[in-house]
Amino acid sequence: MMANTVREPARDIPVIAEPDVLVAGGGAAGIAAAVAASQAGASVMLLERWGFLGGTLSAVTLGGFCGVWTVTPERLIPVVGGLFNEFADRLKQRDGITAPRRWMKVASLPYDPTLVKLVSDEMLEARGVDVLFHTWVADVLTEDGRVDSVLLENKGGRFAVRPRVVIDCTGDGDVAARAGAPYELGSGGITQFGSSMFRMANVDMQQFGTLSRDEISQRLETVVNEGTPLPRTMVALYPHPINGVVHLNATKVARNDGRPFDLTDPRELSEAERVGRRQVFLYESVLRKHMPGFKDARVVDIGAQIGIRESRLIRGDHALTADEVLAGVKPEDGIACSAWPVELHGHGLKTVWKFLEDGEYYGIPYRAMTPVGLRNVLVAGRCISATHEAQASVRVSATAFAMGEAAGLASVIALQHGGDVRKVDVRSLQARLRSQGAILELAEKQRESTI
Ligand SMILES: Cc1cc2nc3c(=O)[nH]c(=O)nc-3n(C[C@H](O)[C@H](O)[C@H](O)COP(=O)(O)OP(=O)(O)OC[C@H]3O[C@@H](n4cnc5c(N)ncnc54)[C@H](O)[C@@H]3O)c2cc1C
Repeated sequence: MMANTVREPARDIPVIAEPDVLVAGGGAAGIAAAVAASQAGASVMLLERWGFLGGTLSAVTLGGFCGVWTVTPERLIPVVGGLFNEFADRLKQRDGITAPRRWMKVASLPYDPTLVKLVSDEMLEARGVDVLFHTWVADVLTEDGRVDSVLLENKGGRFAVRPRVVIDCTGDGDVAARAGAPYELGSGGITQFGSSMFRMANVDMQQFGTLSRDEISQRLETVVNEGTPLPRTMVALYPHPINGVVHLNATKVARNDGRPFDLTDPRELSEAERVGRRQVFLYESVLRKHMPGFKDARVVDIGAQIGIRESRLIRGDHALTADEVLAGVKPEDGIACSAWPVELHGHGLKTVWKFLEDGEYYGIPYRAMTPVGLRNVLVAGRCISATHEAQASVRVSATAFAMGEAAGLASVIALQHGGDVRKVDVRSLQARLRSQGAILELAEKQRESTI
């Protein structure tokens, strides 16, 4: 904590917009929230600190969309539809996704992170969303539990936006936390570890392609046993849609004392970026020596920022729990589904996985998106109200899309009630979500049928 302070003089801030709905953050959740609200008739503004949309999908880069299906040995059954389908279709038209990949007891959909930026622009432009890039949501002004103004900073200076409803899709819950909503940083300050993501090109895919996830892990364990300090041996190496390129989710970024960095603290975040980059090149040298197909491979890209799995978990009217996730609980106010396992990136060389039963799924309650103490704010994406373990399931990208879509539509219903998100009739929200293709439940015959 700094001992010294300076006093910022009071000043009048120009109001640059008064949209019905303001979406803070343009990741998976923010894209879907903005599109859903806009196509339901609201005027929508979206603020994004980078110069492109996609958030973790494009700024960090991932191997594939997770959370699209519930999986049985015979079938992949979609649990996410709606705007995610449009997004995937647009990517497909540009050769930006490849066939689903099954691994362990799950499946993911490999995509091209660069095309995500273009396709997201197109989706928001098609709905007339007012997108302001390179703009940082800096603060909020509240009155009686209502966010009156969101203050932003960009190269032009400091400005205010006065929305009727705000959807916080910053991943870190910046708006809700600034507005005074309670939150937890992971579990008692311990979050999942972050990872710097990277891609290697010039991989001989024929040589590499036959290795299973367990074989890769065993090879890396041998390297660790011989004295190389790799932070993880259970890693994910995904073939990229471009031949010869592999996406690597391998690093695990920790402080010297072994604890995860607090990635909402700028000093710790800065150090985490440096540690992550060092690990990337450690893996490069190890893979070139020890992994079939990697002899001539090179790192061609590191995400623009470290990947943050978990930071602030905003406390809502209900916090999703791991018991609910694993038991496949379907709440009455469910507004999206997920079947992704609890995938916990905690201490140790291996990720801990806890799976739902084959073909099972759970519902995400609307109450997990309504932050305690705030009337005109919804939270969607990885910072919704969930326990540390439950968040390790609900955070994946397809699920974030589904939550964003629900929040966007809910915000428009809230407009009819002065922006009060607790006056939203959840049954009519659910009906409207279903009518636009969102999946809120699976019919029994869908779950039982085989290919
Ligand atoms: C290392 C790692 C690997 C992962 N692997 C996978 C995977 O393989 N598949 C998968 O589906 N999911 C994976 N995930 C999880 C998943 O990608 C994310 O949790 C999900 O995409 C989150 O989406 P979001 O929209 O909630 O948040 P984010 O993607 O974090 O988006 C938040 C957006 O808000 C912007 N923002 C933040 N603060 C501000 C501010 N103050 N002002 C303005 N803009 C702001 C950010 O720039 C960003 O664009 C992974 C996550 C990590 C970190």
